[in-house]
Amino acid sequence: MSNPTCSYCPAAAIYTREYEGVSFCSKCFRHVLEEKVRKTIVKHRMLDYDDHVAVALSGGKDSLTLLHLLAKLETHYPKSKIAAISVDEGIKGYRDEALEFARKTCEKLGVEQLVVSYKELFGTTIDELVEKHLGQTPCSYCGVFRRKAINRAAVMLGATKIATAHNLDDEVQTVLLNMLHGDSWRVMRSSPVLRDTRGKFLPRIKPLCEIPEKEIVLYAYLNGFDFQSIACPHGNEALRNDIRSFLNQMEQKHPGTKFTLQKTAEKLRELVQITVPLSQLNDCAKCGDPTPHQLCEACIMLEAIAA
Ligand code: SF4
Ligand code: ZN
Ligand code: ZN
Repeated sequence: MSNPTCSYCPAAAIYTREYEGVSFCSKCFRHVLEEKVRKTIVKHRMLDYDDHVAVALSGGKDSLTLLHLLAKLETHYPKSKIAAISVDEGIKGYRDEALEFARKTCEKLGVEQLVVSYKELFGTTIDELVEKHLGQTPCSYCGVFRRKAINRAAVMLGATKIATAHNLDDEVQTVLLNMLHGDSWRVMRSSPVLRDTRGKFLPRIKPLCEIPEKEIVLYAYLNGFDFQSIACPHGNEALRNDIRSFLNQMEQKHPGTKFTLQKTAEKLRELVQITVPLSQLNDCAKCGDPTPHQLCEACIMLEAIAA
């Protein structure tokens, strides 16, 4: 059987989007994906014409794709600026390689890059925490520390927004994960744009939130991006892995499942119209970041580690 033809031009197709029943040649696929990201940015009013965007750049396919796409978009907005933030969690044999991909890409695109490490910010590394056999998984610490590290670095850069490379798969996995953890607050809070009206945290945007992971892999591959493909040695979130497999199976049997789930979560958020109960937030007694408790999550963790 011969390959199908591109739905947009006479060229041979290289990819079919099952959930839309549309096929693409390489050129049209790249164009349509870029357009989709642009429309997501407009739809959620993610960017202003003069934003200084700090892109969280790990060196993986998602963040490298995001940096390329935003750098391309930025050329149309002379008053905007892009910079990259890379976080060194201190994971030997893994992060070093990713940081190298990130550095080379920034150099190629002429983008300023700031590298911050857990060691310098929090006095420890993920490898050291693993050796201590603490009660929580390395990813629990890593997630909390990363949010804080990126926010601090973005402030150092004078950024007005932080862009992260969460894709459609990440987003719907997180929705289900939070539901299975019974964390309804997080289900409602996680959205394409996160704003803190007190201005303590910079707004966070997720321009790739409507792009399935496999399309990002294809886009990165077609553009010849060099990205890290080995997985973190500590990344073993059992529940997330199960959810990932379940969603992939569902998507294969029922194309469009992931988008339906994402749209349902979006509608629920609109219905609830959650507003952050700002009056209940305090300044962390140690670092000053907003928290519903006396200390923020990161400072609580750091105290427990030091004990
Ligand atoms: Fe950190 Fe876990 Fe990701 Fe590894 S897999 S980088 S420990 S969050
Ligand atoms: Zn085409
Ligand atoms: Zn704190």
